[in-house]
This record gives sequence, structure tokens and C-alpha cells, in this order.
Amino acid sequence: MLPEKDRKMVLKILADIYGDTTTALEFDTDFQLLIATIMSAQSTDDQVNKITRPLFADHPDAAAIASLSLPELEEKIKRVGLFRSKAKNVHATAKILQEEYNGEVPRTRAELERLPGVGRKTANVVMSVAFDIPAIAVDTHVFRVSNRIGLAEAKNERKTENQLMENIPENQWSLAHHWLIWHGRKICKAQRPQCDICPLQQYCQYYKSLEKG
Ligand code: SF4
Repeated sequence: MLPEKDRKMVLKILADIYGDTTTALEFDTDFQLLIATIMSAQSTDDQVNKITRPLFADHPDAAAIASLSLPELEEKIKRVGLFRSKAKNVHATAKILQEEYNGEVPRTRAELERLPGVGRKTANVVMSVAFDIPAIAVDTHVFRVSNRIGLAEAKNERKTENQLMENIPENQWSLAHHWLIWHGRKICKAQRPQCDICPLQQYCQYYKSLEKG
């Protein structure tokens, strides 16, 4: 794990590069953010945006999505991976929101995680992006990049999340989630991290291990 002074430098560099960046998912409302995030499991944000643009144009809210039949919804999202299970979850979630929350998205983790297709990661994204509640959603990029750098040293997402919450000031949790995602997309890629152009090189534990090896 990185020492505190190095953690501070890493966060400062990430803040300088990625600033106030946010999710690449396109949405106009909290409901659309929730649905897009459910659909993003094991799919890229670009793929999801291509599906949700026409979907939200015609069916922008819980009532409209709930009014579709399940086969109709499947047809509309069939180009995204796992579309059958995602359609089932999106449809059921829209119905619950419409029937129990007047079409609004609830704010608490317990209420969010009760919705079909919403696990801890999706709840964290919605809480932080929609409601400004500090949270760190650990997706594949956040997991890989934070453990390479040494902001965390954990074998699973939940432990990584806990360590990141300890190692990053609470007022930076939500931003740091986006910084790590963007760093993972642009530089610290899964297969070939571009360490030669990475500004975190001198602090990164993975890079130091390569140098030693
Ligand atoms: S130095 Fe390499 S492994 Fe470390 S954060 Fe940068 S790209 Fe990723």
C-alpha cells in the first residue's frame, strides 16, 4: 500500500488531469442514470449510450418504460450484452419505481439495492452522481487501477472499496471513482498499461515491481 504522502501526490495528479470529470453515460434524469447504470454491467458506456439515446427519447421515465411489454423492451435493448436479463431488471425496476415511489429514484442504499439489477456498485454510482452522497463504486477499472497504483491492496471489489474509503478523503470519494475510471480507460489499460506515458509512474507500485523484475 502506498504511504500517505504518495497517496496524496497520486490524488493530486489525478485531480489535475481529470478534474471534475463525471460518468460517460448519457442521461437527463436520475431515473435515466439508474437505468443506464443497470444496463452498463459488462458493457461499455458507449454501447449503452447507443441503446439508451433512442430508448429515452421515446420512453424517458418509469411510467413509459413500465408501459412497455417485456418483449418490446427486449427488442429495444437487444444490441447490449445480457439484454434479456437487463430487460427483465429494467422493466421490474421501472414498475417498482412507478408503483411505490411515484416514478422517483429513492436515495438510500437499502432502497436502491432492493431494486432488481441494482447491486452495491450501481447503488454507489446513483448515490454519488445523482444525489452527491459520497461513495466509491468499484468497477473493473477502479479495481484494477487502484490496486496497481497501491491505493488499495485487495483481492475483491468490496475490500477495495473499503480501503479506498480509508485512503481517500471523503470529499474526494465520488470524484476519485471517476478519475480512476478515466485513467483506466485512457492510460492504465487492462492488457497493456501505458506506463511510459503515465504521470503516476514514480509512485505506482505495479510500475516499481516491473522495474525490479
Ligand atoms: S504506471 Fe502503469 S500500471 Fe501504474 S498507473 Fe500508470 S499505467 Fe497504470
